[in-house]
Amino acid sequence: MEAERLKASGVDVVDFGPGEPDFPTPEYIKQAAIQALRDERTKYTATAGIAPLRKAVCDWHKRELGSAYEPSECIVTAGGKHAISLAVSALIDEGDEVIIPAPYWVSFPDIVRISDGEPVFVHTAASDGFRLRAEQLEAAITPRTRIAIINSPNNPTGAIIPPKEYQRIYEVCRRHNIWLMADECYSHFTYGDAKPYSIASLPESKPNVIVIGSMSKTFAMTGWRLAYALAPKPLIDAMIKLQSQSTSNATSIAQYAGLAAMTGPMDSVPVMLAEYARRRARILAGFSAIPGITCPEPSGAFYAFPDVSSKLVNGSGDSTTLAKQLLERAHIAVVTGDAFGAPGFLRFSYATSMERIEEGLRRLDRFFASAAVAT
Ligand code: PLP
Repeated sequence: MEAERLKASGVDVVDFGPGEPDFPTPEYIKQAAIQALRDERTKYTATAGIAPLRKAVCDWHKRELGSAYEPSECIVTAGGKHAISLAVSALIDEGDEVIIPAPYWVSFPDIVRISDGEPVFVHTAASDGFRLRAEQLEAAITPRTRIAIINSPNNPTGAIIPPKEYQRIYEVCRRHNIWLMADECYSHFTYGDAKPYSIASLPESKPNVIVIGSMSKTFAMTGWRLAYALAPKPLIDAMIKLQSQSTSNATSIAQYAGLAAMTGPMDSVPVMLAEYARRRARILAGFSAIPGITCPEPSGAFYAFPDVSSKLVNGSGDSTTLAKQLLERAHIAVVTGDAFGAPGFLRFSYATSMERIEEGLRRLDRFFASAAVAT
């Protein structure tokens, strides 16, 4: 990556790229992993995950998000990405359609394509806060639709679907007999009035819902590769079969760390959240001071997704060129909206320190004041 190359050559890049917390993994979680090593928990585990962790995931999800799953309806995986891949490959055949609201996390479409499926994009509008509406989803359903992937809070926009609308979305899925895959990886990073919410808290939703959750963001554990899926047992069994012939199991030591995460105090979460909230307010204020940039207020996750289309030549086209110019001329790394199916936007992660955010905003100000535009 160009930003990494510049950094390696000694350039001071303000990096708004990272999709991971800049906080350390909490100490009690690390200690659990160290203890697991000392206890020689270094061998293969059950494919679906160690029994206490499957139970702890169900208990945690029930306590935090109001669901009612049994351990047999849980699989522990090496990251949320793998959980999504397993579910998609278990469920779709060649030519099946998977609805993905845009802007979307970059991996969703390719995960679908790897299984010979067709991603079908439903575009949500910045003016609507990028919140998907049930009618939009319904209009995109065809006889080939198998899954709708709903990611709330959303990467890259930070949008949260309000619970009432989420329930209407679920109703549409149920009526058309399609799976609702609820990607809850950012569930606990919500701001203002928004609260963590899972569609799995609707008792009747179970037959149509696959929950994807991850330790990566909530517990600052991206490198540990640990996540889970909750779904009806026949689907979980199919995913276990696939996992058995791919990764075998999530790393044994990581699973013991995950057990501490699921049963521990969770005191790091409000600390991270409060800091993200401060940074979010700062970055939004910074954008609003730059003429021509507008940014829907993100309700969750740790991304801001400003509309920079007025900064592009003729107001059209290419935020990739703009992202390149920002890197080359201002040494600011961002991710182009094109990567998320949203030309005209840039993604800024505020999982970076307040000092770097201040410095980045200063550079951004200067860059746009010098009337640089993408060509
Ligand atoms: N879903 C979304 C929306 C994400 O942004 C990510 C990571 O960036 C993931 C899932 C997967 O995370 P992991 O594989 O680290 O659990």
